[in-house]
Amino acid sequence: SEEKKVCIVGSGNWGSVIAKIVGNNVTASANFHNRVPMYVYEEMINGEKLTEIINTKHENVKYLPGFKLPENVVAVPDIVEAAKDADILVFVVPHQFVGGLCKQLNGKLKPGALAVSLIKGLDISDKGLDLISNVIRKALGIECAVLMGANIAPEVARENYCEATIGCRDREMGRLLKEVFEAPYFRIVVVNDEQTVELCGALKNIVAVGAGFVDGLKYGDNTKAAVIRLGLMEMVKFCEEFFQSNVSGYRADEFMRICGMGDVVVTCYRGRNRLLAEAFVESGKTIEELEAEMLNGQKLQGPPTAAEVYTMLEQKGLTEKFPMFTAVHKICTGEKTPQAFIDCLKNHPEHM
Ligand code: NAD
Ligand code: 13P
Ligand code: CA
Repeated sequence: SEEKKVCIVGSGNWGSVIAKIVGNNVTASANFHNRVPMYVYEEMINGEKLTEIINTKHENVKYLPGFKLPENVVAVPDIVEAAKDADILVFVVPHQFVGGLCKQLNGKLKPGALAVSLIKGLDISDKGLDLISNVIRKALGIECAVLMGANIAPEVARENYCEATIGCRDREMGRLLKEVFEAPYFRIVVVNDEQTVELCGALKNIVAVGAGFVDGLKYGDNTKAAVIRLGLMEMVKFCEEFFQSNVSGYRADEFMRICGMGDVVVTCYRGRNRLLAEAFVESGKTIEELEAEMLNGQKLQGPPTAAEVYTMLEQKGLTEKFPMFTAVHKICTGEKTPQAFIDCLKNHPEHM
């Protein structure tokens, strides 16, 4: 059979690490074409285009400095050009940008192309709350699996052992995707419940913002363990409330996988969402100011996801059933003080 072509849509911190893994895997396998186009949102770095720096130095000096990318990964500033021949599209951009990119790709893809989303976030519109994979499916009319896990990008870049979960309804496609991503230091389990896997990845970022508040307030690790536990309870309840009636339903056992418990824990200790939420409490600056000051172009997914979830909870009159998700949103926007987060833990309905 013909060699499959893979395209990476995104080139941020995680996008660059994934390009490194995929670039090496396609070279090692006869099943995949060696050239991997990587869509790069163009920007100037000291008078030079980021795409040109990547294609000459083979390093994303802004979003993953200090690590070489394989030379078969080619930075392309035009999204349509990058994606037009792809059999497999790997979506890995901050969730706020995926809608705009899909719009540009509509009608421009190779027939039979498949997608996999590594994006952690949700979409809200007048039609309600939706999964990012559904945004991709609906905009492009293609299949979309997901890959989620406890995968802090710089640690994966160093090739320290870690794990991920692929959620994919189609067995053949799941096997193919495992081949695209798996490495000896990056072990993957494929499950068919793609919806729960994706929801775990999206919702854990809200919990991590809460963990950062607790760190900023200097409450210590017992309190953080309580945040992790209560956060997981709200995640499960949220899946029940909003997604149970969909095709595959939700499955509580997925929360015990690396995409669930694993990712909640790591993000509550090492993630960017935790770091900025801690600085938010300590500095009194806004989330937007801190993102601009501390992340050098990287993007937080927790605060916007909390806003998306809150819009839905508010519409359905469910804010009291989800006090942690609600408090995270209201503290991020300045409607409540960080101290209110501790009150929310003390009075959580899980204790009643
Ligand atoms: P990032 O946080 O590094 O974001 C920066 C990227 O966004 C850059 O490539 C930048 O060029 C791009 N960008 C900025 N403006 C844009 C625009 N208008 N249109 C398109 N792109 C634009 O990105 P990341 O870390 O690769 O994260 C992507 C997704 O992967 C997120 O949903 C994140 O939650 C998830 N993820 C991240 C990590 C991690 O450790 N970084 C781990 C697992 C999953
Ligand atoms: P942050 O975006 O909080 O850094 O989390 C990264 C992540 O998703 C690790 O799995
Ligand atoms: Ca090959």
